[in-house]
Amino acid sequence: MPTIVTHAAVPLCLGLGFGSRIIPPRLLLAGVAIAMLPDADVLAFKLGVAYGHVFGHRGFTHSLLFAFALPTLAMLFHRQFRASAATVWSFLLVSLLSHSLLDSLTTGGKGVGWLWPWRDERFFAPWQVIRVAPFKLEAYLTARGEAVILSELYWVWLPGVVLMLVLMGWRVWRRSSEIPSFLETQIIPSVRVYKRCCFR
Ligand SMILES: [Zn+2]
Repeated sequence: MPTIVTHAAVPLCLGLGFGSRIIPPRLLLAGVAIAMLPDADVLAFKLGVAYGHVFGHRGFTHSLLFAFALPTLAMLFHRQFRASAATVWSFLLVSLLSHSLLDSLTTGGKGVGWLWPWRDERFFAPWQVIRVAPFKLEAYLTARGEAVILSELYWVWLPGVVLMLVLMGWRVWRRSSEIPSFLETQIIPSVRVYKRCCFR
């Protein structure tokens, strides 16, 4: 896995990029939480469940079924998130799917159980470019930990921030393109009415 904080990158960058009118703060927070949720399965290690087991790490919580089921359930409560059902579903789906996609790009561990319950097989993406994160926190103080953090900054946070800036730019452009239409629909007709009534 990438580190748990890095799993928040996708919803965070997308949510801040689209802005609070499209992704309200509550939905943004839910996206961040749901993007980190699948790694709750590491608790299975404490219960003695093997890594490769379907209820082990990167098992059913990383499956496509889980990724589609949870946002569909959350969609029923879309009013709580102050967004439309379609926005809630799509934002949470992308947030949750991003987790297993990022895991599949890492250089270690077992693959992701995308096809559970139909197949127990674990999958990786064609390219493994993100250095796999250690389970132990103290490992981040070593050279290996530093390499993991740099790898995540390069492959996840940097593209995420670029995407966020592009989306923010798109919002600014859209707002500025609304100005002429405001001029055409509000200001110019008002001036015409004023001229007609007062300058005859
Ligand atoms: Zn994971």
